[in-house]
Amino acid sequence: MSAVLLDGHALAGEILAKVKVDATALRDSGRPAHLAALIAGHAGASEVYLRNQKKACAEAGIEFELHQLPDVVTEADALAELRKLNADAKVTGIILHQPLPAHISERLMREALDPAKDVESMTPANFGRLVMGQFSIAPSTASAALEVARRVRPDMTGLECVIIGHSEIVGKPLALLLLQSARHSPTVTTCHIATRDLAFHTLRADLLFVAAGVPGLVRKEMVKPGATVIDIGINRQKGPDGKSRIVGDVDPAVAEVAGYFTPVPGGVGPITVAVLLRNTVALATPRTPG
Ligand code: NAD
Repeated sequence: MSAVLLDGHALAGEILAKVKVDATALRDSGRPAHLAALIAGHAGASEVYLRNQKKACAEAGIEFELHQLPDVVTEADALAELRKLNADAKVTGIILHQPLPAHISERLMREALDPAKDVESMTPANFGRLVMGQFSIAPSTASAALEVARRVRPDMTGLECVIIGHSEIVGKPLALLLLQSARHSPTVTTCHIATRDLAFHTLRADLLFVAAGVPGLVRKEMVKPGATVIDIGINRQKGPDGKSRIVGDVDPAVAEVAGYFTPVPGGVGPITVAVLLRNTVALATPRTPG
């Protein structure tokens, strides 16, 4: 079997076309969508993501500003910068890039972020709404992965679904999103670094989501024939030619057994950026009372 491959750029293009229409309407109304990205220290793996955000915002007509703080910035100064963005009326959305330098508390930063500008749904208030099913936007990577899976498996009722990774930015929100329906959810298993036998779980997955940050973690002998495999990993790795390239968490040979597979690069990554922009426009759109 040879898997159908996702064209992430095509699906992202569809989402962005609608974002552009909505962003133009906001601009015409005199209150444009305006995203502020806050980053402390080296961007690391976020570097590509940041570059793509900036480019996509320019194309969609969303204003974008980058606040790059030095890695020696104190926690107090980082919090002050965040509060300044909270108070800035022109800023309609804020993305706080992770990881932060070790001396800055991620928890304090998340708590300080204005939930009304939280485009990644990472504040305790918004994460709580996700748990309770009372949300309008969700973390962009988890939403993007789910959007891809729904295209292939519109009805997930009772399917065996396995997620590798339980981070607060990807794995946990994805599990919550998959469990939203009272009657039509898949059965969700979340694996992580302490999972004893990864293959035991992955081999029974109809739907397999991988977000571990480990290149080649999932090999083809770990995948059920015909399964839908969504690779969320984005890792920088040196190739045999010594050049650095982006690879996922899933060995590309998995495409030989899977029914559907998302390549890296060009899979979930571009869709994540599109969903982030869609979230930005949603938060910038004035709500009608009631
Ligand atoms: P993280 O380091 O916060 O979490 C990693 C998770 O994987 C943890 O739950 C950990 O327990 C688990 N894990 C690590 N090694 C494992 C192993 N050997 N076996 C089983 N589980 C293991 O990472 P994150 O922020 O969730 O990101 C995960 C990956 O997704 C990274 O490659 C990251 O670059 C990528 N990512 C992609 C996007 C996107 O837009 N597609 C967005 C965010 C993150």
